[in-house]
Amino acid sequence: MKRILYWIVFLLFLSFLLYQTLDTKEYQSKKKPIEDAPFQIYFIDVGQGDCILIQSHGEYSLVDSGNYLDGEKLVSYFQALGIEKFQHVIGTHVHEDHIGGMNRILKSFEIGTYYMPNTSTEYSSYLSIMDTLPKRNISYVVPKIGDIFYLNDTTLEVLSIGEEQENMNNTSIVLKVRYQDTTYLLMADAEKEVELELLNKDIQSDVLKVGHHGSNYASSAQFLQKVKPKYAIISVGLENEYGLPKKGTLDKLEYLNTEIHRTDIEGTIILSSNGKNISIRTEKTDTNREEKKNY
Ligand SMILES: [Zn+2]
Repeated sequence: MKRILYWIVFLLFLSFLLYQTLDTKEYQSKKKPIEDAPFQIYFIDVGQGDCILIQSHGEYSLVDSGNYLDGEKLVSYFQALGIEKFQHVIGTHVHEDHIGGMNRILKSFEIGTYYMPNTSTEYSSYLSIMDTLPKRNISYVVPKIGDIFYLNDTTLEVLSIGEEQENMNNTSIVLKVRYQDTTYLLMADAEKEVELELLNKDIQSDVLKVGHHGSNYASSAQFLQKVKPKYAIISVGLENEYGLPKKGTLDKLEYLNTEIHRTDIEGTIILSSNGKNISIRTEKTDTNREEKKNY
């Protein structure tokens, strides 16, 4: 009899422990979403590459994912922010410094829809994404110019997307993000040919994510004058081997009195808005300085 009693107490104790563990897990997965501002856009420091997180009323979209080695760091970063799902994930084009970390992201979060240009390559990052999408039952859409993705009352409009061609930078999905009175033009790696096509569109924006990491192949004077950004963000690696951003690009932005922010100098750059004003803060991060290919 004593032995039975002993076992009952032991089992009760075990179930209590199990309950505690489950309860903690439940608590961890229900962290509050970011509540700093109804709208935020993070230009995350991934060294020589791009990664942009958009938050609107606690829902998220992701544009690019840095290089392969950034994948794991980004997963931890997003989990620490309490993110469980991305409504939209956009691979702007298939270069490694934009989709390198993507496979880890696709495997680690719930994904609404995945967007990427219809460009086939043999790059391992691209192949692993194409392998993961059907396995995780993620819908993959090649967007068209004029498509609008909704993230609550924030819109992401596709201004440009290219077909497969010699220069993959010009296949980039270019997005104009709008939150109430504020606008953000995300150029990915689109070069001057794409800028020329955009001149007759509504490209004036408060914030410009400068095309192609500030290289000379993008940011023509004509284009920058039309965008007239108050703030320019350059996503670029510290002491990168390409010497980016180029002085010519910085000079043109300074001529327009644009306030320039760089991930290599400031780390992750976080813009918050109430729909009228934009405030900027930065977070020094672990910049990835490894040599990068296919920028
Ligand atoms: Zn790039």
